[in-house]
Amino acid sequence: MKRTLRKQKSAYALSLIFCLIGIVSLILTIWKTYPQLSSSGDPFSTFLSLLWTEKLANISGFEFKLIYLVILGDVMLVSGVILWILSRQWLVLPGETAWFQCPFCKKKWRSIGDKALVHCPHCRQLVHPKMTENKRAVST
Ligand SMILES: [Zn+2]
Repeated sequence: MKRTLRKQKSAYALSLIFCLIGIVSLILTIWKTYPQLSSSGDPFSTFLSLLWTEKLANISGFEFKLIYLVILGDVMLVSGVILWILSRQWLVLPGETAWFQCPFCKKKWRSIGDKALVHCPHCRQLVHPKMTENKRAVST
């Protein structure tokens, strides 16, 4: 369970980073092309042609065209969303929930998996909780 949770958390963080890169790339694209688009009679075809002609950088002969930025942005955004959905699924995939009983205060609580040593949520004692089959609500 712990490993699943960590995987879920890091996937969630990664999905946010991917979405952020994607959004920034697309905003950058619009920001780069906006001056030409606003002065053009046909913004859409101007945008499409700009994608292939506008160069953001020229690194030792390699031309980084605007279209690459758009593709990168799309890929990042899509994989970010997919990762986000996956991380949500991992979140709702906990182990078996069971009722535990504290040997000190006799109170019960519901938790996941079989725990060897936990802090009782009621009396804060470090206990070896007794797993109980009682599925009824927590007695007060
Ligand atoms: Zn207790």
